Amino acid sequence: MKIFRSATFKLTAFYTAILMVICIGFSVVLYRTSVDSLGEGMPLGADWRQAIARPSEFDQLRQVYIDDASHRLASKLVGINLVMLAFAAGVSYYLARRTLEPIEKAMEAQGRFTSDASHELRTPLAVMQSEIEVALRDDGLGKSDLRKLLQSNLEEVEKLRGLSDRLLRLSSAEKTIDLVPASLEDIAIAATTRVVAQAQAKNITVDNLVKPLQIQADPASLADALVILLDNAIKYSPEGSKITLDSSQNDGQAVVRVVDEGIGIKASDLPHIFDRFYRADTSRTSQNVTGYGLGLPIAQQIVEQHSGLISVTSLPGRGTTFTLSFPVVTQR
Ligand code: ADP
Repeated sequence: MKIFRSATFKLTAFYTAILMVICIGFSVVLYRTSVDSLGEGMPLGADWRQAIARPSEFDQLRQVYIDDASHRLASKLVGINLVMLAFAAGVSYYLARRTLEPIEKAMEAQGRFTSDASHELRTPLAVMQSEIEVALRDDGLGKSDLRKLLQSNLEEVEKLRGLSDRLLRLSSAEKTIDLVPASLEDIAIAATTRVVAQAQAKNITVDNLVKPLQIQADPASLADALVILLDNAIKYSPEGSKITLDSSQNDGQAVVRVVDEGIGIKASDLPHIFDRFYRADTSRTSQNVTGYGLGLPIAQQIVEQHSGLISVTSLPGRGTTFTLSFPVVTQR
């Protein structure tokens, strides 16, 4: 980006200036103290002994010696400072790149996010616009046609609302949350209750085997994260399959797993599924599965706010397992 090229240039110049001020300052002090002490330590060789007999010649000789030494010192210091200038410019450029790199990356991610979000917002809006335009051109539109149009518009509005809810959630997830001692079992019950109807519609059984492990949590947020995983498990599983939620405790960590028997995720998609707006091809091309690729990034943010970790293993055609782990609260 152009703005970063000019910022890198300015920062490099600024760092170089600081380094050179230090270097030149040091050289000036070195030059002054060296010149001042030049005369003091002069050797008294044969020439000097002779000269001392004639004090004026001695002073001249002394001055020539001092001038000559001062010149040599000055030109050496100028040479050293020129080398230092080249070195400082190189180091400064490296430091400027290191300083600006994370900011540049964050801005690129922000730009990508905005363009992806706009793209997702445009699709339902374009559908609504074309439907309304077609309806307005048709004079003989009956009541039932109008109903169908409104129904279809309503579906698009619901999609837009779903998307804006997720976008809002992503931005608010960056704020801090209040962690209190909470039971994983209660959180899992709250989450499964919210997806019962959706699971029943596909005749999917949700088995909740989570034990009452104590962790520090914001129960509502953590239940949201589990709902996202359960919602995905239902979306990407065939009718009549089973989803299991279980827990275990090892090495001071409470571990929750969401296991499904669904379509699975290809190994090539696995590294990307936590990226914002990423959807595997199977989900993009499937007409019945709605989504924006924002669920998993939100779930990941929530888990990280709980000092936890989220990971995934999957076998295409066999099923997927999401594993969440959190530090356990030790009871005294
Ligand atoms: P989406 O809204 O598309 O579900 P997510 O961020 O929740 O977005 O998930 C990203 C992608 O990861 C999905 O599009 C899907 O391809 C894949 N995925 C997530 N969970 C599962 C799952 N349980 N089974 C199979 N694929 C999944």
